[in-house]
Amino acid sequence: MKCPYCGFAQDRVVDSRESKEADSIRRRRECERCEKRFTTYERIDEIPYMVVKKDGRRERFERHKVLSGLLLACRKRPFTPDNLEAIVDEAETYLIDSPDRERTTSEIGELIMNRLKAIDTVAYIRFASVYRDFTDVREFKEELERLLIAKDQTAKRRVPEPPPRKPQRRPQ
Ligand SMILES: [Zn+2]
Repeated sequence: MKCPYCGFAQDRVVDSRESKEADSIRRRRECERCEKRFTTYERIDEIPYMVVKKDGRRERFERHKVLSGLLLACRKRPFTPDNLEAIVDEAETYLIDSPDRERTTSEIGELIMNRLKAIDTVAYIRFASVYRDFTDVREFKEELERLLIAKDQTAKRRVPEPPPRKPQRRPQ
């Protein structure tokens, strides 16, 4: 399998797991050249996993679409390719675990938003503004205010660091 980071064709499988429904196998691979890890799924091609959009239309789930949305939201933010890959993996696993082979875009969106929120507020807000469709400016403002309050409380809880200790001379 060609490495998505450097294009090298040799890799080794570091983990292999079957889905709950036993209809797909997830393999974690490590590139033999750059040593980065990526995931492949093996499944029967005829059965697609679908996402249901707000207007009821169904679309085949595509990893690259989720990833490009994430890349936009996380542009110039502290995320590594591994962070993003892990989030997409989680979204896909969530879909694969669905008994109906489908999830709504808002279910998948909420899952991704929760992950982003835990890592970076800016990326979260960017992603949420697209996914949650803040049509209303007030709604958007309210969400921002909630976040700011939460952030403020974390800051207050933080205990200031003690001053650096002077090295003590041992008595001779
Ligand atoms: Zn590589």
